[in-house]
Amino acid sequence: LGRSVGIFPLIPCKTCSPCRKKLYEMCRNYDYTGSRRDGAFAEYVSVPVWNLIPLPEEASFEAAAMLEPMAVAVHAMRRAAPAAADTTVVCGLGTIGLLLVMFLLDAGIKNLLVIGNKEFQKQAVLKLGLPKDAYCDSRTEDVSRWLSARTDGMGADVFFECVGKNETCIQAVQNTAPAGTVLLTGNPFSDMELPKDVYWKILRNQLKVTGTWNSSYIHDPADDWNYVLDRLSAKKITPEDLITHRLPLERLTEGLHIMRDKTEDYIKIMAVL
Ligand SMILES: [Zn+2]
Repeated sequence: LGRSVGIFPLIPCKTCSPCRKKLYEMCRNYDYTGSRRDGAFAEYVSVPVWNLIPLPEEASFEAAAMLEPMAVAVHAMRRAAPAAADTTVVCGLGTIGLLLVMFLLDAGIKNLLVIGNKEFQKQAVLKLGLPKDAYCDSRTEDVSRWLSARTDGMGADVFFECVGKNETCIQAVQNTAPAGTVLLTGNPFSDMELPKDVYWKILRNQLKVTGTWNSSYIHDPADDWNYVLDRLSAKKITPEDLITHRLPLERLTEGLHIMRDKTEDYIKIMAVL
């Protein structure tokens, strides 16, 4: 009692087949704080004790408010598990893409190449420690040519697709090296169609095309949430760097409008008390 906690928002049924394997993120009959039931915008929220995660003293409330997207990024990273020497690409710099860059840099990925299309995204990844020449602006560069020039024409060992558009999914396959991994992270904007030559590339190059969903929280030091807490405790990550707006609670609606209407550049909009 009296301790600050983070909240794993997914409330699993704990009886379905994935739940019995502790794959709660794939629960067939889950509840969810903040979508299927009221979340932190409500005055009071009741949360099962199982979903509470005591915070280390080193973690700020702002960092704690970003635990969920951080765990999602860590989950994606670990699904692909790039080795330090692997050429790794992150395409798409929304919140998850940016957090993924943060964790990949923290994990010591040496050859990280990042594709974005907005100036503030570039500034954000540079702030996270990415070298300037590892950033590709897809508005001004031919992405495939840019990647080819930096991978001896082979493509990436691991390619994180964090956009969810048909063209970027195709680009991901086209720019992944033989025996490489395409990690599909972005939620889809539309139906996806693969041209025949792209499909051939998956077969002939024995690509691993993998999905990722949500994050793993199983009350185990090795799960995604504890991984994030560990990095926060060690002060190895600074997710606060990605907060672009801090708004008092009474201006929350304004923040929601910025996100819905995209009236301003933003990464993370934080309601502060
Ligand atoms: Zn379940």
